Amino acid sequence: MSTPIASAETSAEKLQQIDHIRMAVRQLCSKFGEEYWLDMDRTLGYPTDFVQELTKAGFLGVLIPEQYGGSGLGVLEAAAVMEEVCRSGAHAGVCHAQMYVMGSVLRHGTDDQKAAYLPKIANGELRLQSFGVTEPTTGSNTTSLKTVAKRDGDEYVINGQKVWISRIEHSDLMVLLARTMDRDKVTKKTDGLSAFIIDVKAAEGNGLEIRPIESMINHHSCELFFDDLRIPAENLLGQEGKGFKVILDGMNAERILIAAECVGDGRYFIEKATDYAKERVVFDRPIGQNQGVQFPIARAYTQVEAASLMVEKAANLFDSGLPCGAEANMAKMLASEASWQAGDTCMQTHGGFAFAKEYHIERKFRETRLYQIAPISTNLILSFVAEHVLDMPRSY
Ligand SMILES: Cc1cc2nc3c(=O)[nH]c(=O)nc-3n(C[C@H](O)[C@H](O)[C@H](O)COP(=O)(O)OP(=O)(O)OC[C@H]3O[C@@H](n4cnc5c(N)ncnc54)[C@H](O)[C@@H]3O)c2cc1C
Repeated sequence: MSTPIASAETSAEKLQQIDHIRMAVRQLCSKFGEEYWLDMDRTLGYPTDFVQELTKAGFLGVLIPEQYGGSGLGVLEAAAVMEEVCRSGAHAGVCHAQMYVMGSVLRHGTDDQKAAYLPKIANGELRLQSFGVTEPTTGSNTTSLKTVAKRDGDEYVINGQKVWISRIEHSDLMVLLARTMDRDKVTKKTDGLSAFIIDVKAAEGNGLEIRPIESMINHHSCELFFDDLRIPAENLLGQEGKGFKVILDGMNAERILIAAECVGDGRYFIEKATDYAKERVVFDRPIGQNQGVQFPIARAYTQVEAASLMVEKAANLFDSGLPCGAEANMAKMLASEASWQAGDTCMQTHGGFAFAKEYHIERKFRETRLYQIAPISTNLILSFVAEHVLDMPRSY
């Protein structure tokens, strides 16, 4: 597949606008220092005040069109926001989904749904930052998911289970993917799934049970149990049976934004490693004078810069309305590997001090590791590229 070059380039005017966005985000993030994030990590807290400030400043509504109260900008600008958040030492995973889950409503919702939800998402009155897709028994094999939504008059009745659903306790709404037709009755395996808007607060205790998962990072992920949860039929998002398409569009944006977060993490690690290599003196000279210390940092820098170009390319394609599945996936893979490499290098550069929580590196190291697994694992990306770009035989 060849990509039109013009659409993958960013104009000088746009770059200038993005620079302004970056500066403003940096300024906001500087009010929430690394001690703040360490405290959140230690106490498993949720950074409500940080998220509120980001919302108030309009940064989480970047992708919402102006007519619905957002900034009407693109994924390229949104990526700059997320990159800067991560570069500051913050954990963007606490709120990134507020930016992109709404894409399912924007692109597939009815006029009434858009009018009801988007302005309130833009001003923060409603938090739509949960995507309910993954299930414990089917994992990466999304199209075989088993949670069922059965039509009953003016309602759907939902039964099943989800796992690792992030931020649900800090969301008012969730976009849920459930089966509305048995898998053996559909001709295309992506058919028979439908997307729904779930009012989380109304559902909890009335057919939805939420159980937090204790995990390696403070990502607020939960298990969900649906037991005859009844929702209004009007909460169907897009066409019944075509829900896979509804979430797929949102997934490309998610992959690009998470890739941008990894670039931010990578830059954070490289800055820390470089500063420390220059100031730490052992054997009567800065450790950064040794090529054995310099080279891994220079390599990590090179890898992050390369990944950043793929993020930009994918974002420009997305914003031009062009196919970007391959680029979004490749950006996510390259950036998550680059940030991990940068994190590992930063750990090594700091020696024993890397393990001290007060240096903040080990927290970011744990956080950035997630992105080789979620929202899609590296093997699944390689498989996508092999099959859909390189036209090799299907492996599953
Ligand atoms: C902290 C966290 C937050 C998350 N948040 C959300 C969320 O908000 N919403 C949501 O829906 N999900 C969420 N997830 C789930 C995440 O998307 C999945 O964990 C991820 O897609 C991988 O699925 P799995 O864990 O079931 O792994 P599995 O599918 O069991 O795969 C395990 C390993 O086997 C490999 N593998 C599997 N099949 C193949 C194959 N055919 N070829 C080669 N390799 C293969 C995979 O690459 C992977 O490395 C989250 C996960 C975590 C850990």
